[in-house]
Amino acid sequence: MLTLLKLLKDGRFHSGQALGQALGISRSAVWKQLQHLESDLNLSIHKVRGRGYQLASPLELLDSEQIPSSPWPALIHQALDSTNAEALRAIGRGEAAPFAVLAEQQSAGRGRRGRKWVSPFAENIYFSLVLRIEGGMRQLEGLSLVVGLAVLNALRDIGTSNAGLKWPNDVLVGSKKIAGILLELVGDPADVCHVVLGIGINVNMKATEEVDQAWTSVRLETGRSINRNEFIVILNNRLHQYLQQHEMQGFSVMQSEWEENHLWQGREVSLIAGSHKVDGTVLGIDGQGALRIDVGGTEKIYSGGELSLRLRHDS
Ligand code: ATP
Repeated sequence: MLTLLKLLKDGRFHSGQALGQALGISRSAVWKQLQHLESDLNLSIHKVRGRGYQLASPLELLDSEQIPSSPWPALIHQALDSTNAEALRAIGRGEAAPFAVLAEQQSAGRGRRGRKWVSPFAENIYFSLVLRIEGGMRQLEGLSLVVGLAVLNALRDIGTSNAGLKWPNDVLVGSKKIAGILLELVGDPADVCHVVLGIGINVNMKATEEVDQAWTSVRLETGRSINRNEFIVILNNRLHQYLQQHEMQGFSVMQSEWEENHLWQGREVSLIAGSHKVDGTVLGIDGQGALRIDVGGTEKIYSGGELSLRLRHDS
C-alpha cells in the first residue's frame, strides 16, 4: 500500500494499468489497495475514466533523507499507536538516547490524563524525543516549559508569528490549540532516568471533526502548505538549542522569556486539580516553572502534571 502511495503522492493522474505494472499486481488488486488508502488513511482519491487515479492533493511524506541524524537520529514509522508509547518501548529495548520517534499517523495519540491527541495521516508532526537524564532533578526542572519555548520558536521560524504559551505546556494561537506537549518519565528521577518529550504540532491539517476544542494549524494560520521534513529540522534545532541552555544554566534563566510569551499573564483563571478548584490572577511562574497565582491577595505556587488552567468566564 505504501509503494502505491509513493507512486500517487505527486498528485498527478496514474492509470490503473501503469500502477499495476509498477507494482507487479493486477488492476483489480490496485483497485483494492486504493480502497484501503481511502478507508485506512482517510485519503481522498479522484477516479476519472480514461485518465486513472489521482490524490485529491499531493502528499509530502516524512523522508529520512531530508532529516539529518544530528543532533539525534530520527526513527520514522508509517503508523503507531503513539510515538510516546513507541519511544518507551525503544527505551526498553535498549535503544541509545538521544533519539526521536516520528510517525505519519497515530491511532492512540496521547494527551494528558488519558486524553486523545487527534493524529490524521501525513498532515501533522507526531514526534517524541528521548533523553537520558543523569543530572538528577535539576535537569527535569521546568523541562516541559522548555519544550514549550522550543516549539513556540520553531512555529515562529516557520511563519506562525502569533502563537503563545499556556501554562504548563500548551501552545495556542489566541484561544486555539496548535500544539500539545506530553512528558513521560521512566527510571529513577533522582538518579538515572529517561524522559520522553512528546510533541504534537498541527501543521497542514485543514479540517477534522474529531477535536473537541478550538484548534488551528500552521497552514490555517499562514495560508500555505508546509514541508514537514523542513519543519522537523527546524524543530530539532530549536529543541537542541533550548535543551542545551537548560542543561547548562537551568530553567531560571528562561523564566522571564517564558512569562513574556505566556498568553494568560495577568488573566483571571481557575486552576483545577480533580475536584479542587482555585480562583485567582496569574502572576507568572517561578524559577522552577511552577505557576504563581494571586489568590485573594496572597501569592500561591502550584506545580504538578495533573493541574489544568482555565480562563474564568467572568474575566
Ligand atoms: P489541559 O488544559 O488540562 O492541559 P487540554 O484540553 O489542553 O487540557 P491535553 O491533554 O493537553 O488537554 O490535550 C488533549 C486535548 O487536546 C484533547 O482532549 C482534545 O480536546 C485536544 N486535542 C486533541 N487532538 C488535538 C489536535 N490535533 N489539535 C488540537 N487539540 C487537540
